[in-house]
Amino acid sequence: MNTLIVACPSCMTKNKMVAIKQHRGPRCGKCQTPLPMAGYATPVELTDQDASQVIREADLPLLLDFYSPSCSPCRTLMPIIDKLAHHFFGRAIIAKIDTSRNHLSAGQFGIRGVPTLLFLKNGQVVDQVVGALPEDTLVTKLNSFIRT
Ligand SMILES: [Zn+2]
Repeated sequence: MNTLIVACPSCMTKNKMVAIKQHRGPRCGKCQTPLPMAGYATPVELTDQDASQVIREADLPLLLDFYSPSCSPCRTLMPIIDKLAHHFFGRAIIAKIDTSRNHLSAGQFGIRGVPTLLFLKNGQVVDQVVGALPEDTLVTKLNSFIRT
């Protein structure tokens, strides 16, 4: 999993954390001040090692982008996924997984092409999208996914 480094606004300590922690109300390791995460919101980069656990333990709706670095529509989608992580921070977990390096997870979810976006709630796939959709379409889709 990717990590984030977040400076504490109170004591300036740089806190290093795995990306999923941004969604769990992290506090400064030194002075316990709650860390302001919204500005740091970033997609959680999953691997075969941690995907199942993150999906199982997610207490927010989760959008998971299966991508491959060599796929052009995936690269088009990447900055949109980054924006969604900001836009939906606190309401949804935005995650991605590189299928070229994580075959197990891709197989487990029956991913046949990339990009494929899975919408998961309580560990269950409730919707999916294949191909790169425009940002506003994804925002609309995510909003209704979160509400239902
Ligand atoms: Zn601190």
